[in-house]
Amino acid sequence: MQSSSLFLSSDRAAALETWRSPETDVVSLHLAVDAAGSYPTALGRLLREAREADPRVKALPKDVERIAAYVRGQFSPAGRHGLCVISCVKRGMFEAFALPETFKTSLTVSDRASLRPLAALTPRYRRFLALLADDKRARFVEIYLGESAEVETLDGDVLGAGLPALAARAAALAAARRTERFVLGASEARLAALAAALPAALQDSLILEPLLGPERPIEAVTERVRHNEKEALRVRESVLVRRFLDEKAAGGAVAGLEAVAAALHQGCVKRILVREGWAKMGRCCSSCRRLSLDHRSCPWCFRATRPVLDVVAELVDRALDAGIEVAPVSSEPDFDAIGRIGAELAAPAAQPRTVPESRALRARFALKDGRSSPLRPRRPA
Ligand SMILES: [Zn+2]
Repeated sequence: MQSSSLFLSSDRAAALETWRSPETDVVSLHLAVDAAGSYPTALGRLLREAREADPRVKALPKDVERIAAYVRGQFSPAGRHGLCVISCVKRGMFEAFALPETFKTSLTVSDRASLRPLAALTPRYRRFLALLADDKRARFVEIYLGESAEVETLDGDVLGAGLPALAARAAALAAARRTERFVLGASEARLAALAAALPAALQDSLILEPLLGPERPIEAVTERVRHNEKEALRVRESVLVRRFLDEKAAGGAVAGLEAVAAALHQGCVKRILVREGWAKMGRCCSSCRRLSLDHRSCPWCFRATRPVLDVVAELVDRALDAGIEVAPVSSEPDFDAIGRIGAELAAPAAQPRTVPESRALRARFALKDGRSSPLRPRRPA
């Protein structure tokens, strides 16, 4: 089934991370999936542009065709926000997995899979293993990044004579699959005994779910676990925003697009917080690549800038490229009020460099007689 193949097991993730091709012939697609269903159109445009702009993409037509055919014919968007497809036809490699958050749509060619979205999600998402049991049956389901997979089912007196064996099996599966949270689904009457039978390592990460049992469909199990995970993410987000606001008050963080872009360019950003789903038109300097909101000539090197469709996505993409954590903020009025984007700084910002104001620019451009020069900054004396 297609939905289960979008599940990224820990083995699959580890294999993808270490896999290398001897040539630059691995195509990676990161696709933002929208509920309105315009993503196939966006993909068509991306592929067209990439073929024209990048000769390496043009040289791999089979990979591009295979990726396009997969997205159009096999992928089911249901509730998903992103998709990652990796293709290397020459070496028989094709992998696709779903993402619970949106990333900038991009197509890259390299000697390896581009797994940037995955690295970005790792600090926030946990691997879950659910054990659902009643008197006759025990069932294991794995859940990660909003996707799920059946692991195995055991029949028999699993909560009676078979309980020690079941507990041992749970521990073995959790270790093999690098489980971070263990979900126990059983009737209220059975939960305590089942939990007590598990080894100490699992008890530390235990989530008790009296509403789940082995007869529940996998969608319901996934939905329940996702619900818990979303709650946990909301709590984490709220803590991060509080800490960010405190840091900002103490001078250890900056807010607003221009300030965050400047801090990122200087390489002194520890973590970026950004309003989920926020997009904004902006500009990018063709020479120094600095991002700004509406400067037609670059405030830093004075060259012409080009328009960027979504400067927020571009900025987030660059941060992820640099290995910086980007935490989406879904709903925090205090955060929206300070500009919807902020950066915690790695080193204390003694002098946070922001875009020069027009008065500062006039001073730098001024001629000796006081008139302003449109051409170049006055040389320092
Ligand atoms: Zn510039």
